[in-house]
Amino acid sequence: MSNQPSNPSEFARETLKTLAARKFPPTPDNYAKIYAEISGTTTEENSGAEKVLRAIAERLAETPKSASAGIALKKAIGTDDWEQCLKEIDKALPRSGDEPVNSWSDLIRDLLRQLETPHKGLTITRKKEGLETVLARFGANPDTLFEKINGLVRSWSAGSPAAASIIEVEGAAPAASTTPAKGSAAAAPATSGTQIPATPSGSNEPLLQLAELLAQTLESILSAQPELKPEVQVLAQQARTIKTPEQVTALTKQLRQFWIKAELRGGDKAKIHEGLVRLLRLLVENIGEMVEDEEWLHGQIVILTEIIANPIDRNVIADAERSLRNAIIKQGILKQSLTDAKSTLKSLMTTFIDRLGEITASTGEYHHKIEGYSQKISKTDNLTDLSHLLEDIMQDTRVIQASAMRSHEELVSTRKQVEESEAKIRLLEQELTQVSELVREDQLTGALNRRGMDEAFEREATRADRSQSPLCLALLDIDNFKRLNDTLGHQAGDSALIHLSKVIQAALRPSDSVARYGGEEFVILLPDVRLEEAAATIERLQRELTKQFFLHANERILVTFSAGVAQRAPQESQEDIIARADKAMYRAKKEGKNRVIMAAEL
Ligand code: GH3
Ligand code: MG
Ligand code: MG
Repeated sequence: MSNQPSNPSEFARETLKTLAARKFPPTPDNYAKIYAEISGTTTEENSGAEKVLRAIAERLAETPKSASAGIALKKAIGTDDWEQCLKEIDKALPRSGDEPVNSWSDLIRDLLRQLETPHKGLTITRKKEGLETVLARFGANPDTLFEKINGLVRSWSAGSPAAASIIEVEGAAPAASTTPAKGSAAAAPATSGTQIPATPSGSNEPLLQLAELLAQTLESILSAQPELKPEVQVLAQQARTIKTPEQVTALTKQLRQFWIKAELRGGDKAKIHEGLVRLLRLLVENIGEMVEDEEWLHGQIVILTEIIANPIDRNVIADAERSLRNAIIKQGILKQSLTDAKSTLKSLMTTFIDRLGEITASTGEYHHKIEGYSQKISKTDNLTDLSHLLEDIMQDTRVIQASAMRSHEELVSTRKQVEESEAKIRLLEQELTQVSELVREDQLTGALNRRGMDEAFEREATRADRSQSPLCLALLDIDNFKRLNDTLGHQAGDSALIHLSKVIQAALRPSDSVARYGGEEFVILLPDVRLEEAAATIERLQRELTKQFFLHANERILVTFSAGVAQRAPQESQEDIIARADKAMYRAKKEGKNRVIMAAEL
């Protein structure tokens, strides 16, 4: 082992020999490895590259996102597995395109924010002009564009003079505008896997990435302003199809229009706010004046809630305001109608109460109550109170009705009682009539009445028919009886009637029947005598009357009569024989009165 290398130059010579002997490629790594082996030093200690690698692994392990890759890398270094080391590093490093996407995203977000943020001495239009200049000049080179836009945005927040100067300075660079394609190719980032030379008709990945980013940025607006969806979708779609810088320029114009619109929307927001405030004021101012209609108010609140819940739009607010104004106008009309209706109701109720008052005028209590209601109604304008009043009135009316019902019932029962009484009276009258009909005697004279005569005639006619015996009938009528009544009085007339009746009844046979047939007329039934004998009997009665004077106030008064006598023909009716007798009596009167005439035989 004496010929073993002992100093660095010997180690170096021996290392080269070994490399050649082992047929290792003469890379610095292989050299370092063999050198360490020959010199007896560790790889870790001797390899500066490995040291750096270990430091990288440590750093990666410290960051949570890359910790696993860091640990794996350490392991791979330990086993000298350099291929694995490379894989782990590759894993830990951001993927190709990630970094620019994130920064572009931030930049565009910042750009939009800064566009809207007011900057002293800078209008939004001025900012857009600056941006458009940058886009036109550096649009072909994403890296340069990124930096220029970034610079521009920073210049806004730094102040207007800086912004202006940046635009001026950048604008002075002729290379940017004249050779964009070359510049783009030269500045293409190392992360790009396939570097396609950018030509006006070609495309490159950063441009696509930028386009994609622009599309995503545009889409990110949607969460804040969903109402912009249709425009955003079109623009994002257009951004994604970008292949050439010309298309970027074309899109830029559209984006500008979009911003103008967005700005207008910003203006819209102010107007929306203003509109909402106006709407609310309108609503609040009118709440006091509103119809006592909760439904209506609820409806308005629902409209407002819907406005607030949905994306607020100037048109929606205007519609709501219009509808509210219409509602207020309608409400005015309604209120008038309602006032009219109320007054109609009031007058109706007053009329009703007046009538009720009239009806219940006799019942002081109700009348008093009703007056109270009248006064209340005239003072009330509130529908609810009116309806309560109406309820009270109805309640009292029911009481009155009940009372009226009682009265009615009483009336009905009284009427029934009256009717019953009337019926009883009618019955009694009928009974009385029947009773009086049963009486066969004349109350004044004691002779038979008509009914008595009817029965007597029936009986005597039947008997005469059976026994073939004659039956005669005489009809007597007092002469000048009216004069007697007139000179001596009705009472004297009655007495004269009684006197005559007594005299003739006493002078006749018991089988003969005497009936007072009406006024001062008498019918006498004479059974078993022929016409002449009957006439003679009646004449005898005349004589008797001249013997037995009627005395009135001690004055002898002669009462005479005229008579017609008829003999009943077989089966002749009472009516017929009386008619014949009456006819004869009439002749007697005609012939001078105080005489008896025999009726001609049938
Ligand atoms: P004449 O000879 O033609 O029969 O004459 P007169 O006066 O009798 O006439 P008439 O038969 O027309 O009058 C009957 C009068 O008899 C009329 C009436 O005042 C009277 N008279 C009828 N019934 C009664 C009675 O019950 N009492 C009294 N006091 N008078 C009676
Ligand atoms: Mg007469
Ligand atoms: Mg007479």
